[in-house]
Amino acid sequence: MATLNPRLDERLEAVRDSIRDAARAADRDPASITTIVVTKFHPASLVRELAELGVTDFGESRHQEAQPKIAELDDIEAAWHFIGQLQSKKARQVRAYADVIHSVDRDALVTALALPQATHGPVRDVFLQVNLTDDPERGGAQPDDLPRLAELVASAEGLELLGLMAVAPLGEEPRRAFARVRALSERVRETVPGASGLSIGMSGDFAEAISEGATHLRIGTAITGNRPDHG
Ligand SMILES: *Cc1c(COP(=O)(O)O)cnc(C)c1O
Repeated sequence: MATLNPRLDERLEAVRDSIRDAARAADRDPASITTIVVTKFHPASLVRELAELGVTDFGESRHQEAQPKIAELDDIEAAWHFIGQLQSKKARQVRAYADVIHSVDRDALVTALALPQATHGPVRDVFLQVNLTDDPERGGAQPDDLPRLAELVASAEGLELLGLMAVAPLGEEPRRAFARVRALSERVRETVPGASGLSIGMSGDFAEAISEGATHLRIGTAITGNRPDHG
């Protein structure tokens, strides 16, 4: 294998070890946690290296970058997670290649992602993203909108609600922020009992996320190293 990124295997192993340690400390089974390696801004060749190291789940955040990259990687066995803000008009294209969409935050996007009545297509897994900041411009639904959005996803054709996704805001202790998500998840489960997933935890805070029940970690730089420049 080409050593484009010679320390990739070491970083991957170190993160896997930390995940196992955090799971053990929280009395959780590491197998109940899916690690998504976020490869945005990195070339398809890096994804191939990671796949050879046993990574099966990859995250991308921009449609215009993800679509050609994933098409180029058609031959690898992988699950693709779309984690970035998503315009409703791009929803059908993203649905075509993303197995899981983590950034659903409004009615129009649910409608755009759903299969039209009487059409066939694969079921796509969905997380509702919650905005934990006071800034309404940030991605994510307001907490009070979650139960209604959850019901909308649950009744939509071709979508399955896995749970909630969030990014810990700057300036808040990550564990506190993730505890808020966990509490919101309990409210959502009153409406959709099966939606128990928590997509929380990135390079800097995945251990805290595991303590608060993360089922999906979205980890970029801790594994890939710094992202190439992007303008
Ligand atoms: C880029 C990104 C990540 C990964 O961030 P790192 O700090 O590199 O681990 C996770 N989640 C979202 C939504 C992202 O955009």
